[in-house]
Amino acid sequence: MKITFPHMGNQYVATKVLLEELGVDLVIPPPCSKNTLNIGVKYSPESICLPLKVNMGNYIQSINRGADTIVITGSCGPCRFGYYSIIQKELLSEAGYDIDIILLDPPQGDYKTFFDNIFKLTGTKNPYKIIRALKKAVTVINAVDDLESVTYYKRPREKAKGDVDRYYDAFHRGIRTVYGCREVLQLIKTTREKILSVEEDTTEEIIKIGIIGEIYTIIEPFVNLNIEKKLGDLGVEIDKSLKVSRWLKEHLFLNPLGLTSERKTWEASEPYLKTMIGGHARETIGYAVRYAKEGFDGVIQIYPLTCMPEIVAQSILPTIEKDHNIPYLCLIMDEMTGEAGYMTRLEAFVDLLRRRKGINEGEKLLFGY
Ligand code: SF4
Repeated sequence: MKITFPHMGNQYVATKVLLEELGVDLVIPPPCSKNTLNIGVKYSPESICLPLKVNMGNYIQSINRGADTIVITGSCGPCRFGYYSIIQKELLSEAGYDIDIILLDPPQGDYKTFFDNIFKLTGTKNPYKIIRALKKAVTVINAVDDLESVTYYKRPREKAKGDVDRYYDAFHRGIRTVYGCREVLQLIKTTREKILSVEEDTTEEIIKIGIIGEIYTIIEPFVNLNIEKKLGDLGVEIDKSLKVSRWLKEHLFLNPLGLTSERKTWEASEPYLKTMIGGHARETIGYAVRYAKEGFDGVIQIYPLTCMPEIVAQSILPTIEKDHNIPYLCLIMDEMTGEAGYMTRLEAFVDLLRRRKGINEGEKLLFGY
């Protein structure tokens, strides 16, 4: 059995560690690219959401490298993600690929099915081995998400433009050449040190933007056209409302026990959207309010065309903009999104936030409020 999985930002680093620590043979799909998307688009229905198309491209690129089994996570929520595994299996079979899919649904109290699927995936029934490997993967995803946060901080402040990306891109190339948890953690540590040592330009005025929206589009840099790099180069420090480490903690450990770390976010969303309507619409609203209260200069909502939960969230954002005095920009992504138009919108938005900040600070100086 040769396992592969779809890309979603840095998640591949932790999945690689998990499978390597369990001794599973794996194929990491090549980084998402135009070619990945073209393959996915060819084999997917036109109106399906963009993440599914990119996933299809990942699978076929991995199958061509010898993979025969796909492992994916599922969702029990009321949006299309819940059907991904079934649709993808059918699409792959129509395309002539007879491949096994192992679905790791969040346990939701049913740890037996969850562990049965893990046993199938790992080929071992030794729970200690599995739990040890899971623990290592969680440590890695926390470390790699923390590394990414360091890039969000440093990129807009670096004196020599491009230093952070030079180290960060080298990290992603290096990950494919190291093996197991210890080597991966060592690479994360040295990359973190290098990025932290990048010299800062203290004269740069930093704008802060919170990124909200659909989880895959927020996290996968190919799909969001590398929003963190583009904004970093414009002197913007970002925070992403959703991260793989947070998702994992929430769905794997807290939710099955009836707990959540998102209570504050849901409370913030409550006056506008009380219930879970699928995807992360409630988090989009809750984080927009939280970012406003935390003094961020603006928020950007990003989601794939036809994403139902985010369309609902978008209809609420103008009210939040008014109630909490925070500008927002909405970016909708699909395979036709052009980089030039996208960049113009980002530049215009950042320009607006900079002027607004300048006016607000001028007023504070003049009138003392
Ligand atoms: S959250 Fe949106 S993009 Fe993601 S699967 Fe659901 S409908 Fe599709």
